[in-house]
Amino acid sequence: MTITTVGIIGAGTMGNGIAQACAVSGINVVMVDISEAAVQKGLATVAGSLDRLIKKEKITEADKAAALARIQTSIRYEDLKPAQLVIEAATENDALKVKILQQLDALLGEDVLIATNTSSISITRLAAATRRADKFIGMHFFNPVPMMALVEIIVGLQTSDATHDAVQALARRLGKTPITVKNAPGFVVNRILIPMINEAFFVLAEGVATAEDIDAGMKLGCNQPIGPLALADMIGLDVCLAVMEVFLEEFGDGKYRPCPLLKEMVAAGRLGRKTGQGVYSY
Ligand code: NAD
Repeated sequence: MTITTVGIIGAGTMGNGIAQACAVSGINVVMVDISEAAVQKGLATVAGSLDRLIKKEKITEADKAAALARIQTSIRYEDLKPAQLVIEAATENDALKVKILQQLDALLGEDVLIATNTSSISITRLAAATRRADKFIGMHFFNPVPMMALVEIIVGLQTSDATHDAVQALARRLGKTPITVKNAPGFVVNRILIPMINEAFFVLAEGVATAEDIDAGMKLGCNQPIGPLALADMIGLDVCLAVMEVFLEEFGDGKYRPCPLLKEMVAAGRLGRKTGQGVYSY
């Protein structure tokens, strides 16, 4: 299957980033959100991001105009009908996603593929909300989408090889490097990253080293561009804690116990950069 038009549900952080990545790669986009204000905000974010690429001389004004011309916005799911693939990138809420997927399943032609950008919900379970589990897949982009090279392609229990291959080919057309992952909590990257961050909180809580020295250790000793505690402040401590709680619940294994210091900081409202204070002050 050749994908020439991609539908996107959600014009937020991830939705508009995916729209930009598609549009600059010559793929038509229909980006849908719940309000005109939300789609216009998403479109303005794409325009601003393209302006920064022009300043860096990575694209021209003509490239920007061509990319923007490929993005159609709408607040009606019916406008997604021309798409061969619809990527769901709405708010991370289980019941909301199930409702959206049921609406899409009823509306879209039977050959249309549906992907979700969920960070934490089971692909196999979301697929079961549709009558096309074979044509349903996870496409987990990273933030900011135009800059980040990775896409985790998550295969649910019933996802077909044809669906996998079509979505993998699309990710490559977007200039991304796809990795194929079987459905499991946290997929690959968050499964490894978030417990590492959690362990950094244990090391801090035990007084083994200062926050600055823990981060310096991981930067200089492991060639990480940013230390785990500074990264936790960027991701949001509440998000890190929520992911650990999902791991503990889903795997039923005490090795995923959230660090009490992480819980304390979240309880105190020290969520990281977004609240001005996390492990560090901003
Ligand atoms: P966001 O809050 O920035 O955007 C979500 C958008 O979905 C909003 O504009 C909202 O109005 C819209 N929306 C809500 N209900 C809708 C509906 N019924 N129909 C259409 N649009 C609807 O969120 P985000 O950060 O872009 O996250 C979107 C998804 O991507 C989530 O599943 C999240 O877990 C995942 N994700 C996020 C990141 C990240 O770093 N932000 C990274 C990878 C994956």
